Amino acid sequence: MHYYVMTLFPELIEKGMNTGVLWRAMEEGIISLECFHIRDYTANKHKRVDDYTYGGGAGMLMACQPIWDTCLAVKERIAQKALEEGRVASAPRVIYMSPQGRVFDQAFAEELSKEEDLVFLCGHYEGIDERVLEEVATDYLSIGDYVLTGGELPALVVMDCVSRLLPGVLNNDESAETESFTEGLLEYPQYTRPEEWMGKRVPEVLLSGHHKNVDNWRLEQSLKRTKERRPDLYEKYILSHGGDK
Ligand code: SAM
Repeated sequence: MHYYVMTLFPELIEKGMNTGVLWRAMEEGIISLECFHIRDYTANKHKRVDDYTYGGGAGMLMACQPIWDTCLAVKERIAQKALEEGRVASAPRVIYMSPQGRVFDQAFAEELSKEEDLVFLCGHYEGIDERVLEEVATDYLSIGDYVLTGGELPALVVMDCVSRLLPGVLNNDESAETESFTEGLLEYPQYTRPEEWMGKRVPEVLLSGHHKNVDNWRLEQSLKRTKERRPDLYEKYILSHGGDK
């Protein structure tokens, strides 16, 4: 998976990706990251990338030209990289991180993990001129119903989540298979040593070595926890499994 990020803060993206599991995945060549600094592509002699909004109102807007030219450079790079790797580059998804987009979830992360290249566009200020978005953005993606100062943290959230679904990124100890949302339920409670801590014992069934009973207990706990903490998910799960509550 090759990530390309159009941003005003490449150092933030690079720092975010250069740690832990993601750093290891980059070292192993499973993912790659290239940041394109939008300011490098502005034609403005003062290196400005923003301007006032027509119609008045507070705040500045990122202008079309720098975004358009950055996007052209990214697409050229993608074509070149595909050539180097002996594959045919298809038109990449260009994801504009925006509070107005569809809300990111595990199912969408799985969809994105099938792509070869993903391009992220990170906005700032009041956002980006609508006309260039119409030309470059294939997806509008939000990480939740709240507003942040920029699209870098949202892009990092998405890259983190997508990366851990790629084969080889997680080792066996970190498997993504049984996690929350994978089956539409939250994960069951988990315990590690010691067997007793502050008078609280690990549930006996987990010490029994009886795999069938452990599986049953985990499913029960997942259902209970999802019902308590995320009734919306629980409803969906029950409906899709055609069962009674
Ligand atoms: N004026 C915009 C609006 O009301 O939709 C908000 C602009 S926000 C202050 C600046 C940038 O932060 C956006 O262009 C976007 O890239 C990013 N951003 C803010 N909140 C976000 C969220 N919840 N999800 C994804 N990106 C977000």
